[in-house]
Amino acid sequence: MVPEIFNQAVSRDLKEDIITIDGPSGAGKSTIARQVAEKLNFRFLNTGSMYRSMTWLALQRNISFDDEARIIDMARNIHFAISIRGYGEEDFRIEVDGHDVTHHIRSLEVERHVSQVARISGVRRILVQKQREIIQEGGWVVEGRDIGSVVCPQAILKIFLTASSEERVKRRREQFHRGPTSLTGVELEDVEKEMNQRDWLDSTRDDSPLIEPPDSLRIDTTGKSAEEVVEEIMAAYGRSRHAGRHN
Ligand code: C5P
Repeated sequence: MVPEIFNQAVSRDLKEDIITIDGPSGAGKSTIARQVAEKLNFRFLNTGSMYRSMTWLALQRNISFDDEARIIDMARNIHFAISIRGYGEEDFRIEVDGHDVTHHIRSLEVERHVSQVARISGVRRILVQKQREIIQEGGWVVEGRDIGSVVCPQAILKIFLTASSEERVKRRREQFHRGPTSLTGVELEDVEKEMNQRDWLDSTRDDSPLIEPPDSLRIDTTGKSAEEVVEEIMAAYGRSRHAGRHN
């Protein structure tokens, strides 16, 4: 099923461009992607939310993460409705099969299992196809793990965001503090373990692992403010447009 998208208009002249932002968890992708999208009046797509939503649904339905056939079947029939009302954290909302899962997908339980769902090739094929359908008109900043390498290799600008391991753990903990589920002390300790485990699984899977596309611009966000990183990306975007790297 084609995902439903509810969004605000984008400016016409820049409409065809797509900027991709890939990188490991906690590198700051979502924050940066939202702010770049706001500057350009583009829309912002967080592809991790789609893998997370599938994970939530599998948990809801008690489907074993080893049962690839059932998970692929679920991916085939899943219906996403994504609404982008603005550029704040709360403005990107996602529904699966009629459930608003915007908050549920941020739980530690979903986080623990999402890489198991994302490593299934049959699932990736379906979600990549849906993501391409969503962004086909252009005017998007898309963030994830395989966006510049697989989903949209023709993007005008590809960014690869990194940060030191300490910084990424700090950010993940802060995200959980802001989120709907407050964690116990033990769970907060777990954040680092879970994050490392997830990054390892994401980087070593057979199908579209997290890689740094050779034609991407690497930005290390350690110790930088979001504004600084956004400025760097805006400057790179200006250069790419100037160089005429259009699809
Ligand atoms: O970006 P976020 O942390 O929400 O992503 C959650 C998980 O979804 C990642 O750890 C990864 O397993 C999967 N993912 C992916 N490909 C993407 C985006 C996310 O495999 N493009």
